[in-house]
Amino acid sequence: MNYHRYYPVDVVNGPGTRCSLFVAGCIHQCRGCYNKSTWSLDSGFTYTQELEDHIIRDLQDTEIKRQGLSLSGGDPLHPQNVPTILKLVQRVKAQCDNKDIWLWTGYLLNELTIEQQVILPYIDVLIDGKFVQELADPKLLWRGSSNQIVHELHKK
Ligand code: SF4
Repeated sequence: MNYHRYYPVDVVNGPGTRCSLFVAGCIHQCRGCYNKSTWSLDSGFTYTQELEDHIIRDLQDTEIKRQGLSLSGGDPLHPQNVPTILKLVQRVKAQCDNKDIWLWTGYLLNELTIEQQVILPYIDVLIDGKFVQELADPKLLWRGSSNQIVHELHKK
């Protein structure tokens, strides 16, 4: 998997103070996409074991306490990203106490493949659907257009 950006301290992408990872690879080609440079799976930088360890350490940090991890892109549920994302979210839930995981995807929740669905038990909130320019509204919270739905999969 490749990624574009990792923000160890982020207060914009999801609630509270978070770590945010923006991965490479997206097939959806939404008109008006704010992040076209992430579409190619080969774009960005190689996601390494070192980066994964770094994310886990950041989430365990007790000085700057993070509420959780945000996964966006690109699309974290691009079929080629799923194995690496699965390993990351499994580690977060096993090794980082009480952190929530938010994930943004262009796929629809009810259309995910069996392979993509393996991620869902580890995701607290999933925002699904393509960005639709005609339905864009800057007042929306955590989503760009009104067709997208914020699914609270595992309410605390
Ligand atoms: S799903 Fe997101 S990253 Fe992919 S094309 Fe649509 S807006 Fe861009």
